[in-house]
Amino acid sequence: MKVTEHIKKANGKTLFSFEIIPPKKGKNIQELYDNIDPLMEFKPPFIDVTTSREEYVYVEKDGLLDRQITRMRPGTVGICAAIKHKYNVDTVPHVLCGGFTREETEYLLVDCHYLGIENVMALRGDAMNHQKYFEPSEGGHNYACDLVKQIKNLNEGKYLHDVIEADHKSDFCIGVAGYPEKHLEAPSLQSDLKRLKEKVDAGADYIVTQMFFDNSKFFQFVEEAKNMGIDVPIIPGIKPIAVKRHLQVLPQVFKIDLPEELILEVEKCKNNAEVRQVGVEWCIKQSKELVDAGVPTVHYYSMGKSSNIEKIAAAVF
Ligand code: FAD
Repeated sequence: MKVTEHIKKANGKTLFSFEIIPPKKGKNIQELYDNIDPLMEFKPPFIDVTTSREEYVYVEKDGLLDRQITRMRPGTVGICAAIKHKYNVDTVPHVLCGGFTREETEYLLVDCHYLGIENVMALRGDAMNHQKYFEPSEGGHNYACDLVKQIKNLNEGKYLHDVIEADHKSDFCIGVAGYPEKHLEAPSLQSDLKRLKEKVDAGADYIVTQMFFDNSKFFQFVEEAKNMGIDVPIIPGIKPIAVKRHLQVLPQVFKIDLPEELILEVEKCKNNAEVRQVGVEWCIKQSKELVDAGVPTVHYYSMGKSSNIEKIAAAVF
């Protein structure tokens, strides 16, 4: 079922959903199942599976180990299919512009269609660590909006070339990213919102936000998006702080602000167990307020670890 259909079916009740990261190459999928198992009690209607681009392989060159960059960590679509069938839950693969040609994207989408995957999250992807700015692959898309258009075309049976017999149509429900504190490259929140509107006008069906720790930023973002004519569901994405280092890493990586009250609480902690407790309590408070405000889903960034999310879900759902 589509994410938007799940939201409609819930009839105003806030749903619980989360995203997972494919395990590193060579790891067993059981580790992933062990993290998903405890969260199934809270009946997620869908689970997102991210795509990671930065992965290194080391090869020996002149007696030294030379780092070569591969394009992406594999597994997203396969894991979506495995989870869908094991748990009978809808899955949402994250599809990136970066690292893919348009043709490769088309093959990936056709595979998703055959596997019965009905939702995709259309994203540009970040610049890789060795790049200053995002660079599309040759023959790939520059912006998520162009990827949305390709998926929409496929939904209408329009393939890139006439080589494939288009006797079926996919009907993907398309999610896109939104940034309550603006995307790090955007010159202003208003210009970023205009770009978000372009994605919705191109065919995006719903929006999932970047993480935030201050709900007022999310509420303001939703208000401004509505004023701009964006009328698709906006799903808040949140995550509990788990280690002290997050105080520096999260603002640095995502260009988001942390509330003073949260910073003070974390700084007082004597060890990571105390930090986790503070993070969980803050996230519960945020979640309850979002549920009270009637958001369609609270979407959690699990970062591959479910125990904190389980505590939060138990307190909220
Ligand atoms: P876009 O919507 O293309 O926007 C990128 C930037 O370009 C913005 O600053 C925008 O304002 C600007 N822009 C857009 N269109 C134009 C235009 N026509 N001209 C000029 N500027 C323009 N990354 C991963 O690698 N894997 C994942 O699985 C993943 N999952 C994510 C899930 C969520 C919910 C979110 C919020 C982010 C996720 N990301 C993921 C990170 C995302 O890929 C990065 O934030 C990326 O830098 C931007 O992606 P986007 O889809 O928002 O890009």
